[in-house]
Amino acid sequence: MQYISTRGGIAPISFTQAVMMGLADDGGLLLPVAIPEISADTVAQWRGLSYPELAFAVLSRFIDDIPTDDLRELVAKSYSTFNHREIVPLVKQGDAHILELFHGPTLAFKDVALQFLGNVFEYLLKKSGGRMNILGATSGDTGSAAIYGVRGKERINIFILHPYKRVSPIQELQMTTVTDANVFNLAVRGTFDDGQAIVKTIFNDLSFKEKHQLGAINSINWARIVAQVVYYVYAALKLTGSEGVTKVDFSVPTGNFGDIFAGFVARRMLPAQIRRLILATNENNLLTRFVLNGDYSLGQVRQTSSPSMDIQLASNFERYLYYLNGEDPNRTRQDMERFAAVGNLQFDELAQERVRADFASRSVNEEETKDTIRDFYQQHDYVLDPHTAVGVKAGLTAREPGVPMICLATAHPAKFGEAVRRAIGHEPELPTSLAGLAGKETRCEVMAAEVGAVQEFVERHAL
Ligand SMILES: *Cc1c(COP(=O)(O)O)cnc(C)c1O
Repeated sequence: MQYISTRGGIAPISFTQAVMMGLADDGGLLLPVAIPEISADTVAQWRGLSYPELAFAVLSRFIDDIPTDDLRELVAKSYSTFNHREIVPLVKQGDAHILELFHGPTLAFKDVALQFLGNVFEYLLKKSGGRMNILGATSGDTGSAAIYGVRGKERINIFILHPYKRVSPIQELQMTTVTDANVFNLAVRGTFDDGQAIVKTIFNDLSFKEKHQLGAINSINWARIVAQVVYYVYAALKLTGSEGVTKVDFSVPTGNFGDIFAGFVARRMLPAQIRRLILATNENNLLTRFVLNGDYSLGQVRQTSSPSMDIQLASNFERYLYYLNGEDPNRTRQDMERFAAVGNLQFDELAQERVRADFASRSVNEEETKDTIRDFYQQHDYVLDPHTAVGVKAGLTAREPGVPMICLATAHPAKFGEAVRRAIGHEPELPTSLAGLAGKETRCEVMAAEVGAVQEFVERHAL
């Protein structure tokens, strides 16, 4: 499988090159030249595979430049760190099927992709004899999942900036208790936006980037998307083909559009099994406005109880735009340039019809999120985290009889204990992996929110 850019400015490259490139060199995002549709025979063979077996089968359709045995091993290693035998169990609670994606080391769905990406980076660097210094900023969740993805790995150092004392105590501990020599936590005295701006500035210093082989781990890396395609396929095959169920719907709590884009890819692979994707947003509802009214225009970021979705600019949107534009890279580049200039895009009736054939959407406000956590707990004795609750509310509203609604559970409720307590009166039980964090040794460098300070620190500790 070859990879191209949404903006058409690079010659086709291999999977390995796509993983290492991250963002396409022309500023676009990388995509496979074609999304394979899976035949009925293959679907029959895939039913009943274990999660790692299915992951290997799905990934093989997109990765042809890693030897089969090596890829199998990379997949097995990536999911051996999960603490549930099924990796991503699907549990029925009332009218919802909850796909629990939070059994990885940091208890959020980002582990599914970042455990794999960390192993792929290590494997490819070993082969090439190269090295990488990963630099990123986090508001909480991505940082810990990225750190756990590469801790202790050879040829990789990781530097993660978080806003000092502005992440939850649990999130802070999840990052700072990792004391492997290749992990550097930088707590900057400022906001998440300050951290992100610093990282962006440093990446724009091309000679520094080259000298230190800087690498990124944000959700624009294709390896992250493709690893997430697997659980859509897994859940869809699990519920279809028996008891008269032919199709399923998915509800996806959405921020950067990475997870739901993986759903879009899965739906192209399994058009007979996956009917509709529900794009669920919190009060940051830019993407809902896009689906319902064809209006893609930036607003102000609002803080909510589901902070990993407090995003206005969805970094993976450009991938969908490429398909909406009939796979035309020139139109996509022009649209993105226009958006950069004026801060909005408007879509005509025809485009809107195509969007609504792919997605339904609903925005869920803070009150509804809290009510959903409370009602779900009272009815099913099951605690939802606030991100998952947004998806459950949107999913149950859009549900149609006879079509199972699979709601992605993107985080363990204990990661957002305070929001859960406000809804149900007490905090959820801490899983042992979190309970054990308090009192552990920590390592973290506190510094000013200044490019110079961060750059100098990276300079001194880079591989
Ligand atoms: C990152 C995240 C999301 C949003 O996923 P995107 O791929 O950015 O759309 C939702 N829930 C949780 C818990 C997350 O960490």
